[in-house]
Amino acid sequence: MATPAPALFAEADPSFTDLLAARPALTLHAHDGLLLEGVALARIAEAVGSPTWVYSAGTLRRRYRALAAALKGAGLEAEIHYAVKANTNRAVLAVLGAEGAGADIVSEGELRAARQAGISASHIVFSGVGKSERELRLALAEDIHQINAESAEEIAMISALASSLGRTARVAIRVNPDVDAGTHAKITTGKSDNKFGVAFDDALALYAHMASLPGIQPVGIATHIGSQITNGMAAYRAAYARLAELVHGIRARGLPIQRIDCGGGLGIPYRDEPAPSPEALAGAIKATLGGLGLPVMLEPGRWLVGPAGVLLASIVIQKQGASRRFLVTDAAMNDLVRPAMYEAWHGILPVSPRAFAAEATPADVVGPVCESGDTFARGRALPLLKPGELVAFLDAGAYGAVMSSTYNLRPLAAEVMVEGDRFAVVRDRQSYDAMLGAGRLPSWMENAP
Ligand SMILES: *Cc1c(COP(=O)(O)O)cnc(C)c1O
Repeated sequence: MATPAPALFAEADPSFTDLLAARPALTLHAHDGLLLEGVALARIAEAVGSPTWVYSAGTLRRRYRALAAALKGAGLEAEIHYAVKANTNRAVLAVLGAEGAGADIVSEGELRAARQAGISASHIVFSGVGKSERELRLALAEDIHQINAESAEEIAMISALASSLGRTARVAIRVNPDVDAGTHAKITTGKSDNKFGVAFDDALALYAHMASLPGIQPVGIATHIGSQITNGMAAYRAAYARLAELVHGIRARGLPIQRIDCGGGLGIPYRDEPAPSPEALAGAIKATLGGLGLPVMLEPGRWLVGPAGVLLASIVIQKQGASRRFLVTDAAMNDLVRPAMYEAWHGILPVSPRAFAAEATPADVVGPVCESGDTFARGRALPLLKPGELVAFLDAGAYGAVMSSTYNLRPLAAEVMVEGDRFAVVRDRQSYDAMLGAGRLPSWMENAP
């Protein structure tokens, strides 16, 4: 029996023109092809090679300012702490830091990166479910702004460490509000069966207990319900309403509270998802927490940096399989893991003007890694592309380079920043020496080849 032919095109993907229209930093030049700000991506590939991550400084600034303006416009007193894990590049951190962003960090490495990029300790918040003693010691020694504690056990550890160091830790309790953010299961963090935060029902008693401990100044409560939230503000409102309830409880007990950390999670349109606006988020915060007279903090990652980056790749080969056409790129799942890990959709644009205008037919876009999961797109409308021709994976500024690995012994890709008509390498492509040089033989094998 003949199996029905699979649909040729994945249904209703946005066209190249639609993708471009929604991304103001990307334009098509009749001669130079795709430009990010004023720089032809082909020029970057020629100078730096591929695969290469390319970030738009102008887009980072524009997005930071739009978010800050939305919060201000809603009449909120708000501090933005950029969630460093989304993109740790030093130049990206420096651009956001210069705009006034603080940093939300989850490791010693991120604390060091934020400090190295010029973000002061007084603008750093430490989140995460498993901060080590070593990391907490460093945070206390640096006297960072706030530690978001995730358990009674961690609060005991912070109190003991701070007391022994003669420090006072400013601590907020991260509350798990038990709401479903409606996003991918791997990036949902605010349900009761997730590992994150303190159960809502335990939070008030723990806050009171914390206030009695040495070495700790209770400063607030925090939540973060998940990432890539695109389905409206209902989950945010539900979570913030619970925080408001908790603030009333804290005050009723005569305990101090200075601020509320509203987390991150605001989604971006990778394909054609409805894009929640920063104004909508500001409105949800205002409506639920605005009456409490407390300043709020935000921890956005993806929303600030995702749309500011592309991953530039070359076609290695185009091959015709038994039933499908494959475009094999020199970027792979070890570079951009989101499609393999979260079934994520990324726009893919050809870079040359010829390819942009050529007839598009369905193709699977894959990397060279030895796993079938190394697939960026299936049935995507793309022109015939010859080896060496370039494509750009869109919206790769968040959870891109930071999640890459050297799987298949493929060196970490270079990172470039553009600003107007200038560009600079902001992280070197990893050398083979750097990738292979850390390997050692045990002493008893030293005479082996
Ligand atoms: C990951 C994370 C964020 C940022 O999430 P985005 O979806 O990138 O905005 C903020 N706060 C905490 C605690 C996180 O773990």
